[in-house]
Amino acid sequence: MTNSATSHLLPVFARADLGFERGEGCWLIATNGERYLDFTSGVAVNALGHCHPYLVAALQEQATKLWHMSNLFKSPDGERLAARLCEQSFADFVFFANSGAEAMECAIKVTRKYHAAKGHPERYRIITFDGAFHGRTLATLAATGSPKYLEGFGPPVDGFDQVPLGDLDAVKKAIGPQTAGILIEPLQGEGGVRAAPHAFFKALRQLCDDKGLLLVFDEVQTGMGRTGELFAHKRLGVTPDVMSLAKALGGGFPIGACLATAEAASGMTPGSHGSTFGGNPLAVAAANAVLDVMLKPGFFEHVQKMSLLLKQKLASVVDRHPDVLAEVRGEGLLIGVRAVVPSGDLVTALREQNLLTVGAGENVVRFLPPLIVTEAEIEDSVQRLDRACVKLSGGQLKRAAGQ
Ligand SMILES: *Cc1c(COP(=O)(O)O)cnc(C)c1O
Repeated sequence: MTNSATSHLLPVFARADLGFERGEGCWLIATNGERYLDFTSGVAVNALGHCHPYLVAALQEQATKLWHMSNLFKSPDGERLAARLCEQSFADFVFFANSGAEAMECAIKVTRKYHAAKGHPERYRIITFDGAFHGRTLATLAATGSPKYLEGFGPPVDGFDQVPLGDLDAVKKAIGPQTAGILIEPLQGEGGVRAAPHAFFKALRQLCDDKGLLLVFDEVQTGMGRTGELFAHKRLGVTPDVMSLAKALGGGFPIGACLATAEAASGMTPGSHGSTFGGNPLAVAAANAVLDVMLKPGFFEHVQKMSLLLKQKLASVVDRHPDVLAEVRGEGLLIGVRAVVPSGDLVTALREQNLLTVGAGENVVRFLPPLIVTEAEIEDSVQRLDRACVKLSGGQLKRAAGQ
């Protein structure tokens, strides 16, 4: 697949033999001239599709004004973005970073420092859940806890206690005198579009309140409209103390954010954290433009409507091809189809139908269309899935017949 003889990119990704030079809305145009329906959205990043005219204009305008200046000075547009994110959420303060893992690093530091500043530096441990994904830095890998990602990189960063998702007794047992907080994704993306019941999140909130712990939501993938609300936790009816955002925040321009209440952020003082690029004016302009579009009346209603349509249509394909597909799950436009065949085979078969999707844990294939996807594009994607299933079940039949 990869051309290791000529590529100088560090071979940490198993890249498909396909490259793109242009994007328009939900479509990508490959270097071979073919058009692909993009239901990866750059892994939940291009929420407004490719080259959304409003985002292009915002970035072009900013590019003629100011690209970068240091956090030694005030940032009027950064102030505005932070104020808007706080107005839309539980938070009082925002720290801007450049990626999801960095936003999570900040969330972990905020959680630890909160207790240290209150005279309890021994409270640094954070409870996490199996199937989680929080990033690829050393600390976020330790929080992720997956042995296959940790192996070979020395002792994992100490301070994370992983328990089974949805197991409240296990959470209670894991809480000790060193516990600082609980970290969870409202809906696991990489883990396979896996959700815990709403009641579980309510119970976690209660536990945190009872024990003086901070509740941290990793909304790097679920945030910014992906699940049909600006933030996924709005649908849970549970509010965290700290939240990380990234992926769709800049609509394709790299930016991450850590949001916190004034109380949760009370340990963070000048010098306790920082970033050279965090809050970069281009990134902030992109994120402000994303918010302009998402906060227009009807935006989330559209996402919810498309979600329902996609789920219904996918369910009918699952019914038609029980030898290939098993189940549809997820919320908003973070939809997973659990496969019977190896999920990698399904991703490949879909790519051969010019439909791009992303694998996830539990043998799931993620359908992550841009949130601006139309009914016609959803119909189109489902027809491509149907054709891929016909091919895959033909292969199954051949294998079963010993051919
Ligand atoms: C993608 C992701 C991250 C990591 O984001 P990066 O920008 O790749 O560092 C963290 N948490 C969740 C839930 C994610 O989906």
